[in-house]
Amino acid sequence: MTSANTKRLQVAICGAGIGGLTFALALSRYPDIDIEIYESARALTEVGAGIGIFPRPWKVIKMLGLEEDLLQVTETAIVDGSVSGFRYRKSDQYEGKAFFTLVTQGSLMLFHRADYQQTLLSHLPKRCRTHCSKRLRSYTQRQSGPIELSFEDGTMASCDVLVGADGVKSAVRAGVLGEKARWAKGEGKWKEAAEILQHVDPIWSGATAYRALIPAQKLQAIAPNHQVLHTPGVQYLGKQGYIIAYRISGGKFINLVAFVVQHHLENTTFNGPWMSTVDVSAFSSTFTHWEPDVQILLSCVEKPMQWAIHTVRPMQSFVSGRVALLGDAAHSMTPHQGSGAGQAIEDACILAAVLGHPSTDRTNVAHRALRVYDSIRCPYAYRVMEASRINGRYFTLRLDEDGAIDIDKLPPKQQWEYLQRLGHAIVKNWEWAWTTSIDTALQEALRLLES
Ligand SMILES: Cc1cc2nc3c(=O)[nH]c(=O)nc-3n(C[C@H](O)[C@H](O)[C@H](O)COP(=O)(O)OP(=O)(O)OC[C@H]3O[C@@H](n4cnc5c(N)ncnc54)[C@H](O)[C@@H]3O)c2cc1C
Repeated sequence: MTSANTKRLQVAICGAGIGGLTFALALSRYPDIDIEIYESARALTEVGAGIGIFPRPWKVIKMLGLEEDLLQVTETAIVDGSVSGFRYRKSDQYEGKAFFTLVTQGSLMLFHRADYQQTLLSHLPKRCRTHCSKRLRSYTQRQSGPIELSFEDGTMASCDVLVGADGVKSAVRAGVLGEKARWAKGEGKWKEAAEILQHVDPIWSGATAYRALIPAQKLQAIAPNHQVLHTPGVQYLGKQGYIIAYRISGGKFINLVAFVVQHHLENTTFNGPWMSTVDVSAFSSTFTHWEPDVQILLSCVEKPMQWAIHTVRPMQSFVSGRVALLGDAAHSMTPHQGSGAGQAIEDACILAAVLGHPSTDRTNVAHRALRVYDSIRCPYAYRVMEASRINGRYFTLRLDEDGAIDIDKLPPKQQWEYLQRLGHAIVKNWEWAWTTSIDTALQEALRLLES
């Protein structure tokens, strides 16, 4: 018998990505909760790419005491008032057209993912034990008693609460949906059971992202006046896709992501590996006729990574009994609002607050704490998911869902008005990320728990 069994709750976290680690850190503030982290990878590493964190999830980072250390690894300064952020251009033509600047309340903080992960790890107390090379295969949950975890290497573990932070292909999500489908079948609801199981597999969004880190010196040598070197970041938009580029790691690298978007293939199956290293020629043809600034950036790209962007179909709930989903496992979304990790961070904050609440214990966790988490986070995260999907449309210069208006066929004055409307639409759709506060959700969660 380990000392863990004397604790109020034993929580197992499956997956040590941004969501799982942030949740572990948030939960570690409650000394009477035992925390074990199971990660399938052999070591904790992050993809060589950038990440942006908006003011809403940044508040959580601040609450967790990470702000000071993170400020050491970014050029972005904290500003509480209005901040001029990304510049937007119509770029799928020889002479690009600047049409809008995103102004946020509070800064969008930009990082290298590895720096963010290292900072998180350096704050994680030793009592959060991380077990690598532990790929969860399945779990078994009964009315009472511990949840049994079964790993691919044949080993087993147990816990009172299982948190699935295991990403878009989540094994825990498959388990949660499997349980719900079995209950539905048990009540003779065969159609409902079949519908539930349709949510297990992720779906392709029709977008493919090509990610690369460009040494800033390389760009500086070719084009010292390039906008990306002198602005917070630029988004180059066109009808077939878009490119986002911004500086990270104290200005040492440019994070570049080129998206090729095929709206007609949304919700289909992607054929091929979801992630692979490719040659620039895999995507450069989409951008050949684009403005010179884009050509310069693409000439600096070496060994880009291709990511087929997958999402999950919205489920009715993130919770089944004493099992809860968090981050991409629950709500993998398109990256067009740079908010997938931010939403995982918000999940982590609310879930830790309800589990850590002194009234939560093994006997009531399923019916109180996890239900409150679900009622707060599930609808919100799915609203963000939809807003992100809509941004993907706006970034390909489509104001309407079916793309009936071809912007290039509009006379110059109308084209300009269209671009202005697009700028306004982007702000309206995105402003939740800097005009609302996680505090409201946190207070509501605690109110529900205590009422
Ligand atoms: C191109 C691109 C740009 C993006 N930009 C941004 C941005 O600027 N801002 C933002 O907020 N978000 C952004 N996102 C989204 C963000 O990267 C994700 O939402 C976030 O990383 C999800 O974190 P997670 O911890 O939920 O999942 P993951 O990062 O996928 O972590 C899951 C972890 O679980 C492990 N695992 C998987 N299966 C198992 C198993 N069976 N057993 C044990 N462990 C397992 C994995 O190895 C991994 O470590 C972007 C995404 C993309 C693709």
